[in-house]
Amino acid sequence: MLIRKLFLEHKFLPVFAAIVIITFVMIGLANLSTQSNPPTQSSAATMENTEPLASTTPSPAPLATPLSTWTAVPAHWEPLSPIPGVARVLFTNGDRAENKVALTFDVCQAEGDLAGYDSEIIRVLNETQTPATFFLGGEWMRDHQANTLELARNPLFELGNHSWSHRDFSVISADEMKNEILLAQQQMYDLLGYQTNLFRLPYGTYNEEALNVIGENGLYAIQWDDVSGDPDPNIDAQRMTNGVLQHLQSGSIIIMHANGRGWHTAEALPGIIQSIRQQGYTLVTVSDLLQIQPYK
Ligand SMILES: [Zn+2]
Repeated sequence: MLIRKLFLEHKFLPVFAAIVIITFVMIGLANLSTQSNPPTQSSAATMENTEPLASTTPSPAPLATPLSTWTAVPAHWEPLSPIPGVARVLFTNGDRAENKVALTFDVCQAEGDLAGYDSEIIRVLNETQTPATFFLGGEWMRDHQANTLELARNPLFELGNHSWSHRDFSVISADEMKNEILLAQQQMYDLLGYQTNLFRLPYGTYNEEALNVIGENGLYAIQWDDVSGDPDPNIDAQRMTNGVLQHLQSGSIIIMHANGRGWHTAEALPGIIQSIRQQGYTLVTVSDLLQIQPYK
């Protein structure tokens, strides 16, 4: 009775009661949302948030996954169509009559031997607006997912396949070669939704069978004709620059490393890029140099 009387006599009370009810409802909703599952993120987005993008030090070392145990084959994935037999050769350079040159960076990682990511090279390429082709190891992509996405998103760059675990194609069997190629293709597709038709042989070693297997699986074997020698710590920036410029000619494909084991690469790179351009060459990607349509 008292409450009813108060409600009737005091018009503010219904408003007060409404505020109390709304407050209780909101507290209830807040409790509900904290009890439900936290929002899920894709693994790539999680990596992006937790792994520093600009890092030259390897991320915490996971155990290398043996070939036979990597089973995350993406849905809808299938290998590329074979390339014609005549194209199953080693592409060491582009047209010698055109003033185009391609910078390539191998990002190698062998099984059980975690490599890094040379962010200083990426900084130089961005600063100088230099196109480049990166050949990524499958295990490296698995262990550096944020870096793989960063490279893929950069319109200056294109990505190639550098085998799953960097085994020597001059000694392994045809089945092993196929496995090395396709596991890396699947890893790229899993992360990016596309795969590449550019392949770089580990160590650059091969035999006729290797070229055939690479072609059968839809990739072009991209070699080089201008070696930086950057995995050798004794080749300093000046010596590297002199060597690269000495062997440079129209259509050249230059090989360097961006896995943290090109010891003086980032230091030498600005001078090399500047000299190449001063000599009248245009720096392009491999697919541009060879007029291959990059598969995406
Ligand atoms: Zn390599």
